[in-house]
Amino acid sequence: MSAGYTVGTWSGLPNYSCEICPYATTDRETMIEHVFIHRRPPLPLARVSSYVLGPDGRPAPIPSISKPGEG
Ligand SMILES: [Zn+2]
Repeated sequence: MSAGYTVGTWSGLPNYSCEICPYATTDRETMIEHVFIHRRPPLPLARVSSYVLGPDGRPAPIPSISKPGEG
């Protein structure tokens, strides 16, 4: 399994470049923490968007589906 980053040189210093995105740093610990975020499972989309935008661009409440026997 790849480490997730490659090591080069930048102004005589070791330069760590992410293999997944253009991120690069001269600090190895910082890069190790960075590549870790790429390995976390993505968040479920349903939980990210808890509201929708109305026609005027402001958050509008999501119409709730009433269950039988409630209300
Ligand atoms: Zn990255």
